[in-house]
Amino acid sequence: MNDKANKCIECTVTQCKNHCESVNYCSLEAIKVGTHEANPTVDQCTDCMSFECKPGQCN
Ligand code: SF4
Repeated sequence: MNDKANKCIECTVTQCKNHCESVNYCSLEAIKVGTHEANPTVDQCTDCMSFECKPGQCN
């Protein structure tokens, strides 16, 4: 459980270790956003590079 919600970073990825479980915010001070596309055109092209899978959530 991580209660240090950063109100500047809204996030709904509850599978991430850095997510504040009780509220939809990230607990990190800052995150890095990137892309897996050569020419990103829509939001689905972007990724949170600070994502870390929550223990028990990943194989
Ligand atoms: S690290 Fe990224 S995916 Fe994880 S809670 Fe923070 S903003 Fe969401």
